[in-house]
Amino acid sequence: MAGLCVRSTLVTGANRGIGLGIVKQLLQMPNPPEWVFAACQDPKGEQAQELQHLAPKHPNLVNIPLEVTDAASIQAAAARVREHLKGSGLNLLINNAGIAKVISLDTETVENISQVYATWASAGPSFLSLQAFLPLLKKAAQGSSSSELSCSKAAIINMSSIVGSIEKICFWDNVQYISYRCSKAALNMLTKFQSLGYRQHGILCTALHPGLVQMDMGNSAGHKPPLTVDMSIQGMLNVLCSLSEKDTGTFLD
Ligand code: NDP
Repeated sequence: MAGLCVRSTLVTGANRGIGLGIVKQLLQMPNPPEWVFAACQDPKGEQAQELQHLAPKHPNLVNIPLEVTDAASIQAAAARVREHLKGSGLNLLINNAGIAKVISLDTETVENISQVYATWASAGPSFLSLQAFLPLLKKAAQGSSSSELSCSKAAIINMSSIVGSIEKICFWDNVQYISYRCSKAALNMLTKFQSLGYRQHGILCTALHPGLVQMDMGNSAGHKPPLTVDMSIQGMLNVLCSLSEKDTGTFLD
């Protein structure tokens, strides 16, 4: 983790699960970010109690409301972040929030597909990155002395899943997850396009599979996943430290 030297980071879906775990581990780093923006739907609600308890102990933690399918909410969150950063950029945007529904090919519905797509593949990562936070990411890249792409400079990390891999088609016999799989495949494609479009601005874009984690979503696959949330996040933070030019546009485990 020593190499991850990030001045500011924003994590979506930060009130529980992997998002909360990332926030906690970032705050515990020997050299923590100056700003950790923990974005979630209702930072004052019951589902965000851990974040509420963390905030007084960590002046660098800012809990902000963000509903990733709502453009107005995204714009308001970006304005809050901009205010805190006082003219500097945002280094690392982690698009983690989303939903998964255990639905089979026969029972999938249009409504469900639209809802799941809205969080993973379209509104969430696209609005967040394209419209609202891109200027802040560009600013971080421009302010960096390094010419190399890295998470320390400016990066978008889209939390994907191995179940979105067309090559591997994992766990099909256990769980079909139609809309979830399709939306993650689309997210991987979006990541590729983001990498092509934003390379010139110095922004690294990578899709990351966190491993199968013992959280609500991982457990929904019908068997106990192998990784604790801490193991998954330690692994991901190590990967984030090592990302460079060759990794932009890729989908990593
Ligand atoms: P959880 O279901 O535990 O948490 C999901 C988070 O997303 C919650 O904070 C939830 O907030 C938030 N969220 C859902 N919809 C919205 C929305 N519309 N706006 C804002 N926030 C929203 O998931 P995990 O922590 O397990 O997974 C996190 C990421 O890792 C996901 O991208 C998932 O696909 C990926 N992943 C997870 C695996 C696993 O084994 N757990 C395996 C592979 C990938 P709220 O509490 O308000 O509902």
